[in-house]
Amino acid sequence: DATLAQLDPEIAAVLDGELTRQRDTLEMIASENFVPRAVLQAQGSVLTNKYAEGYPGRRYYGGCEQVDIAENLAIDRAKSLFGAGYANVQPHSGATANAAVLHALATPGDTILGLSLAHGGHLTHGMKINFSGKLYQVAAYGVDEQTHRIEYEALRAAALEARPKVIIAGWSAYPRHLDFAAFRSIADEVGAYLWTDMAHFAGLVAADLHPSPVPDSDVVSTTVHKTLGGPRSGLLLARDSEPLGKKLNSAVFPGQQGGPLMHVIAAKAVALKVAAGEEFRDRQARTLSGARLIAERLLEPKVREAGVSVVTGGTDVHLVLVDLRDSALDGQQAEDLLHDAGITVNRNAVPFDPRPPRVTSGLRIGTPALATRGFGDAEFTEVADIIATALTDGAGADVEGLRARVDRLTAAFPLYPGLQQ
Ligand code: PLP
Repeated sequence: DATLAQLDPEIAAVLDGELTRQRDTLEMIASENFVPRAVLQAQGSVLTNKYAEGYPGRRYYGGCEQVDIAENLAIDRAKSLFGAGYANVQPHSGATANAAVLHALATPGDTILGLSLAHGGHLTHGMKINFSGKLYQVAAYGVDEQTHRIEYEALRAAALEARPKVIIAGWSAYPRHLDFAAFRSIADEVGAYLWTDMAHFAGLVAADLHPSPVPDSDVVSTTVHKTLGGPRSGLLLARDSEPLGKKLNSAVFPGQQGGPLMHVIAAKAVALKVAAGEEFRDRQARTLSGARLIAERLLEPKVREAGVSVVTGGTDVHLVLVDLRDSALDGQQAEDLLHDAGITVNRNAVPFDPRPPRVTSGLRIGTPALATRGFGDAEFTEVADIIATALTDGAGADVEGLRARVDRLTAAFPLYPGLQQ
């Protein structure tokens, strides 16, 4: 049997090149992470060969005795980690998990109320050309123009006006905690379901470093690959299997998906085991501390004088939203500048952004991947200084000097040592 390098040298070269890129740069895209080797192993396993439509013990295919064990482990670990009575670990991704939630809770034509994409919401929360915006009536809420935070009286007013079937709590770019009890009380007042999409902050919740949405929500969805640090995929949770468990299960399969990705489900089980451990909690604490250090550094007077600031004046989570509306750099230029210095981030609209989404006036900077790499306060202080220097100096930045500082950090924290793709 040929190895990958023998059979397909072009793809083998991509894998090699990507491992080198991940090793030699600072990964600060807020939605990315590095999975443990055990996750790579489970995900690259023979389980990819198996069809297993249905659920453990109730499959439509024979030969599922091994994969049933894996799926039951993943379900039990998800429930225990998040204090949930119900879990479905089959969603292929965050987006399909979300599609299943809406499929279960609403009928096409019903109104949904989520955070607008321009203010940090996700595509699946009602963006116009996403399935969520096409199938449902969308009423969006935004953040306050002054505070850039979700203000709950305004949310309540939006809910009273829209009378949605589903209210969505959750975000892709919002640097603060949500008040789940306030969401719950507004949902109750208007007779709506409350669905929380904790894709970004699930790892913080697992580590008890962020309020949990599970007690207050009717359904919680998440990705597994962001702060949670597992394979690229999604999962669903609820306080209990009643009243929605059956509906959610049938919305995932056969509602949205065919055969579950059993190699990914096994990898999910591994990641959920890791997330219950002490090392994981420590990693999430370093993630939070790193984000706070970056926000504080970017709020120093010299940086402010260059027109750079931080949305909401800080962060409670794993990311910092940099506001470049008054800077000489736009989002694209700032992303490119940091890329040249060896730091990978993504440009991101800030609330009330005057620039189009392809350019933007912001950056989203996240710390989960570097915390997984082993970074603590000392390293994040250095990273914060590199970023602040680059954004302050702008076009005049000493890119080579900054790149040399990045190289010292990557060399001191080898990624996947000894791994060959
Ligand atoms: N939900 C939120 C809040 C997200 O930020 C994302 C990903 O960016 C998703 C869902 C979608 O996840 P996926 O990319 O796995 O479909």
